[in-house]
Amino acid sequence: MYDLHVHSQYSFDGHDSIADICDRALELGLSGIAVTDHVDQVATPRLLPEFTPKKLALTAKKSSAAVTEAKRVYAGQLNVLRGVELGQALHNQALSEFLLSTYDYDFVLGSIHNLRATEDFYFMKYNSAEQAHKLLHEYFDELYALVEWGQFDSLAHLTYPLRYMVGRDKINVALSLFSAQTDAILSLLAKRGKALEINCSGLRQEIGDTLPGEDVVRRFRDLGGEHITLGSDAHRTSDLAFGLAQGMELANRCGFSSLTVFRQHVPYKVPFGEWTGEAWQTH
Ligand SMILES: [Zn+2]
Ligand SMILES: [Zn+2]
Repeated sequence: MYDLHVHSQYSFDGHDSIADICDRALELGLSGIAVTDHVDQVATPRLLPEFTPKKLALTAKKSSAAVTEAKRVYAGQLNVLRGVELGQALHNQALSEFLLSTYDYDFVLGSIHNLRATEDFYFMKYNSAEQAHKLLHEYFDELYALVEWGQFDSLAHLTYPLRYMVGRDKINVALSLFSAQTDAILSLLAKRGKALEINCSGLRQEIGDTLPGEDVVRRFRDLGGEHITLGSDAHRTSDLAFGLAQGMELANRCGFSSLTVFRQHVPYKVPFGEWTGEAWQTH
């Protein structure tokens, strides 16, 4: 099994060294990991000092250098993939494209944590369905534009705002209101041969579900989606591989027969049967 969404100390909200993460991955019997440290193209009021373009570029450089070292140290034991979680790539398209052409990434996650005019959904307070629905409408519009741009391999945690709207602030969100927008996103992903991530972080958080949930994953399949990637979105080693077994079962229920791993942006489908029998399943 691969965990294709992992943050190290080079993410502003990550805790552990890449060596510690790799050691834990070996303990769990993983075949590989993708180190996907954040590059969030944004200047939100609270996080401005962390997110200047210069600091973002430096962080990407440090993470990439540490992955190069881990690839050397763990060769033959663990496949360490050079990844990045490119947040809001279009908020600074030039820097995004510079980083993508500078570092030899195996795997790029595309994601959105905040809209152009607001801060991370994590920092916002939700007090009505009406407010949440208005923000979700904008969120899906921005995601569609991101997929049109398309310079990533897998779309990360689609429905991210629900982690806080539904899970934390208990707002009754009607996702069905946005089916035209989510269908457009999923169709375009499928048409472009991109992957949809099943992000398992929600399984250890208040929302108690994957991001996105089963209905969206099934819809991706119905609309021609071929590639699913799985990630724990761990920000500390203790969360590594958490929920991946449930994520794989979910993909299976939705009609997928394989999971996808990317190397040098090339998708490799690995049938479910080849992922079994490893220690991670009991984690
Ligand atoms: Zn994220
Ligand atoms: Zn992440």
